[in-house]
Amino acid sequence: AAKKNGRNGYSWFESGMEVELRSRNSLEGDIRAAIPNDEFVPYFEQQIDLNTGELVGFEMLARWVSPVRGLISPDDFIPVAEETGMIGDLSLSIIRKAMIEAKNWDPKLTISVNISPVQLKDPWLAQKIVKLLVETGFPASRLEVEITESSLFKNLSLAQSIVGSLKNQDIRIALDDFGTGYSSLAHLRALPFDRIKIDRSFVSSMFENAESAAIVSAIAGLGASLDVPITAEGIEDEESIAKLKALGCTKGQGWYFGQPMNIDQVRTMLTQKDLITNRRRHSNSEAV
Ligand code: C2E
Ligand code: MG
Ligand code: MG
Ligand code: MG
Repeated sequence: AAKKNGRNGYSWFESGMEVELRSRNSLEGDIRAAIPNDEFVPYFEQQIDLNTGELVGFEMLARWVSPVRGLISPDDFIPVAEETGMIGDLSLSIIRKAMIEAKNWDPKLTISVNISPVQLKDPWLAQKIVKLLVETGFPASRLEVEITESSLFKNLSLAQSIVGSLKNQDIRIALDDFGTGYSSLAHLRALPFDRIKIDRSFVSSMFENAESAAIVSAIAGLGASLDVPITAEGIEDEESIAKLKALGCTKGQGWYFGQPMNIDQVRTMLTQKDLITNRRRHSNSEAV
């Protein structure tokens, strides 16, 4: 990123670094100010049963809606929140908002939330998530927690104990972005995953790239032999659905089904599909 800012001769690196440091400091300050301002919100991406075409739930994706910076992607603010120790509280506050909202949906609809590797170093993480369930009244059985393999790389035994506590509470665990990062098949044995998510990079290049197609097929086969259901991310066309179904992927998500939606858009969609319940209990829980 430093390189991008460089223009003139030998000093490009230094000046680029300076620009980067300054913008990172101001980003950190802006994030701190944005938290009490309620600028971090959940967006929701549909998850579809590929065999029936039915909506089965949503992945919650964090967004920063900044009046100054615009709509900011988690790839831009999560790393800063991780480095500065803000990620834990920030993440839980967004998950809380998602639970309060999702409590009003049809009970068959689940939510999946992403947990950062840094959060998996917190021995109290499971208790904190359970506390949110109690406070919001959202049922554990409708919650799935997505973790990536890089989380396991740092401290496997702590991750195992957190995952164990979550599973004891009836919360499901998905292995996210499988096939990228520090992949090891041993991880599949070390932790009792309820689901494996194939990374979008493989799914979206399945038809142009023989290696990607082979990897998708191998992960689907692995899921079938281990009896772990597979979700495909990044589905952008109908052609992919047919292929993924043939390979045995049961669930999918991606822009073909729709872009991630904000709370108002989800409410509109679910109202049209008659999948909203409990409007009155909802306003009560928000007032508390
Ligand atoms: P992820 O968990 O793998 O989420 C999927 C990402 O792929 C999302 O990007 C989503 O918008 C994008 N995506 C989904 N379908 C398609 C598609 O068909 N085509 C394309 N081009 N993209 C698609 P997003 O929302 O920018 O999130 C990026 C990453 O940020 C997520 O990857 C996740 O690792 C992380 N993240 C998101 N929300 C949170 C959060 O609340 N906490 C933590 N720790 N990480 C989060
Ligand atoms: Mg995810
Ligand atoms: Mg993913
Ligand atoms: Mg991914």
